[in-house]
Amino acid sequence: MDIRLKNGLRPRPNIAIPAGAGGAPLSPLSTPAQRPSLMQAPVLVLNATFEPINVTAVRRALVLLLKGVAQAEETHPTEVHSCTQAINVPSVIRLLTYRHIPQQSRALSRKNILLRDRNTCQFCGDIFPASELTLDHVVPRSRGGRSSWENLVACCYNCNNRKGDRTPEEAGLQLVRRPRPFTLHTSRQLMRLIGHKDEKWRKYLFY
Ligand SMILES: [Zn+2]
Repeated sequence: MDIRLKNGLRPRPNIAIPAGAGGAPLSPLSTPAQRPSLMQAPVLVLNATFEPINVTAVRRALVLLLKGVAQAEETHPTEVHSCTQAINVPSVIRLLTYRHIPQQSRALSRKNILLRDRNTCQFCGDIFPASELTLDHVVPRSRGGRSSWENLVACCYNCNNRKGDRTPEEAGLQLVRRPRPFTLHTSRQLMRLIGHKDEKWRKYLFY
């Protein structure tokens, strides 16, 4: 399959690698790609030590490869072409120099909370599409509840309305499961959920 990106693969100067090497949402494409879905497919990012540290999108991974910041450890048969070279679409990349990544900051996002809670409202226990879920602060922000892994849960709009600005006890609601803090285990679990279709990730995530 021949996918040409006219300018998209030219390494731009001064691209800072965000904490977690690609954890930030992708910026809008500067050049339209012919296969945006392929460009957004997940790529597992390993630290120089082979420790899995994040999941990024193919587009971001290609930039890291072309800048010489990372090398491909696993690839797909599909190729993309820059002006000067053909590159196999990466599945797993590894940073060439070790990066210290603070654990907590790298993963707190709506997407990751929904993944952790498996798109299940933590009050009624029903499963919803992501678009029909919101994040609920178990201890409301007005009571000093923090935006943290331990205080945020997936919640459907019905339950969210019912709960309002109260604690679960006050609203007569019970948590399906106490929200788990972020740990290395959570991190691996999230990566496995994202990469469940890609066999090549398995050996790096130990399952
Ligand atoms: Zn609910």
